[in-house]
Amino acid sequence: MNPFSLTGKTALVTGANTGIGQAVAVAMAGAGAHVIAAGRSSSAETVALGAAEELHLDFSDPMAAQDLFGQRQIDILVNNAGIIRRADSVDFSEADWDDVIDVNLKAVFFTCQAFARAALPRGQGKIINIASLLSFQGGIRVPSYTASKHGVAGLTKLLANEWAARGLNVNAIAPGYIETNNTDALRADPDRFRAILERIPANRWGKPDDIAQTAVFLAAPASDYINGAVINVDGGWLAR
Ligand code: NAP
Repeated sequence: MNPFSLTGKTALVTGANTGIGQAVAVAMAGAGAHVIAAGRSSSAETVALGAAEELHLDFSDPMAAQDLFGQRQIDILVNNAGIIRRADSVDFSEADWDDVIDVNLKAVFFTCQAFARAALPRGQGKIINIASLLSFQGGIRVPSYTASKHGVAGLTKLLANEWAARGLNVNAIAPGYIETNNTDALRADPDRFRAILERIPANRWGKPDDIAQTAVFLAAPASDYINGAVINVDGGWLAR
């Protein structure tokens, strides 16, 4: 059996209509999985690119995925949906705090919990959380995002500790600076864009496809002995 194959597995990818989520969904379909592309916007484009079906899922209610995993068998969960809000910390609003924490952290935990309640009795499952460089670094003007992504890294390790012996692999990917909607504002500022580029050892910003095959690996049997890891896919940024 090919240890990198996802044939026979069903994967749910959140925020799969665009960016990193779309690339992950398409790559998992390419590796043989039946992919459910989930999100608040239509994932029709992702289905056209290879995902099997789309599902409406809006994490403005962090408990939105509670009933999903009891209804059908899902073997792989990719918690990718995420938002970012930028403002000086001294001016940062409660709404920008709550909205980001709800989608990036509270929804991630309770979706992992719902998935595990269905998958633990089967003794098999893979969870891949999308963390960030700001799981390790402070960043600037993104307090709720940094808090949420530090939280995602911590939760990934905690859940791995609880579930590894019961057949669930919980890991995370920390993408570097990737060209998606999430980084529009940074790329629109020529000084910030150049300053970031100059610090990336690979000498280029990342593309969503740079993340996708790491997610396939973490979903496949090849990574069965990887638990609680946060894998940087960042062109060397954190090595600098
Ligand atoms: P993106 O293009 O903005 O994608 C974010 C995805 O999350 C979109 O599909 C978005 O849907 C979805 N989403 C947002 N709020 C949602 C909600 N309430 N319910 C359901 N889905 C929701 O940015 P991206 O870069 O691909 O981001 C994907 C993940 O990577 C995020 O967790 C982000 O924090 C993380 N990340 C990105 C970078 C980077 O450099 N780009 C670096 C580190 C980590 P809509 O299109 O409908 O808004």
